[in-house]
Amino acid sequence: MASGERNGEGEVWAADFPRRWESAGSGPGGEGACWVDTHVHIMPPRRMRGLVRWVKKFTPGFPVSEDITAEEIVASLRACGIPLFFNLVFPLWEEETEDLNRFNRELCAGIPEAVPFGSLHIETPDKEREARRCIEEYGFLGMKLHPYAQGFPAFGEEMRPLFEVLHEHGRPLLVHTGFDVFYGMYMDLEEMEGVMRDYPGMQLVAVHALFPRFRLAHHLMEEYPNFWLDMTNTISCLRLHDGLRSQGDSLPPSASSLEMEEVEENLPYFHRLLEDFSDRIMYGTDFPVGFGYHHALLDDLRFFRLERGVEENLLAGAARNLLTRCGFSHLAAKLPTRGC
Ligand SMILES: [Zn+2]
Repeated sequence: MASGERNGEGEVWAADFPRRWESAGSGPGGEGACWVDTHVHIMPPRRMRGLVRWVKKFTPGFPVSEDITAEEIVASLRACGIPLFFNLVFPLWEEETEDLNRFNRELCAGIPEAVPFGSLHIETPDKEREARRCIEEYGFLGMKLHPYAQGFPAFGEEMRPLFEVLHEHGRPLLVHTGFDVFYGMYMDLEEMEGVMRDYPGMQLVAVHALFPRFRLAHHLMEEYPNFWLDMTNTISCLRLHDGLRSQGDSLPPSASSLEMEEVEENLPYFHRLLEDFSDRIMYGTDFPVGFGYHHALLDDLRFFRLERGVEENLLAGAARNLLTRCGFSHLAAKLPTRGC
């Protein structure tokens, strides 16, 4: 998630939160699962405050402190037994771009489990230079854009210098996709497809899996071997959807942002995605601003009673495949063999 406005009501989203945030311990590691968390946000204190405050606006009672520190986040991830995580930052204005990327490099240099991603802004004057700095000088795995929070289209002409660098190095671009009604924003998905076609070396990871356009996601997975999905928040929302569906006509107002009808139509394709392409589907958490600690989010995943191999792919196999494809097999090799 990231900064922005939402329509106000949050009772359904909040109802389950106390239990979801009860304790950081007894995580997936304790249950024999190896989980590479492909979506974590550790940012500078001012940005963390803004992010947590924004979540509190639409999730009354959200229990995470605005003053949460990097140390606390890392301690939670370790308590959950997460062996590796992607740390994602993104500038809200151009002026913080370089500082934010440098912050991520310095932060992650001291955290063996952290895999840093860089970012830039549409107003970044020399996008090729910033992308090269992140990939070539800082050694980042890839780049991340959050077009809805950053307030610009991710796949326009002006971003092509970024795609060039990622294509050249065969690296991932993580882009927020979906939850259009929640954000009140829209993305040109044909433009996205054009970029994927033009830069086959670039590995495009659709964060939130185009929620809820799983039919289109399935088609794109068939067409483009450089297309990947990250199910962050999507899994929890689909579980929530299942609960709301059983309420029939008495849907709370917050259900509108879940795009109930669209979800219903697309649901068969969600299951087909998992059947056909789990080797390219990851499951991150948005920690510490997602839907709970890892034990609750693992519970959400297991609600769908996936086959063991599919679950293993979402938790670690797909991330391992991405690392390997991007020339980061040394990180893949660092993963514990048990459950990974
Ligand atoms: Zn996020």
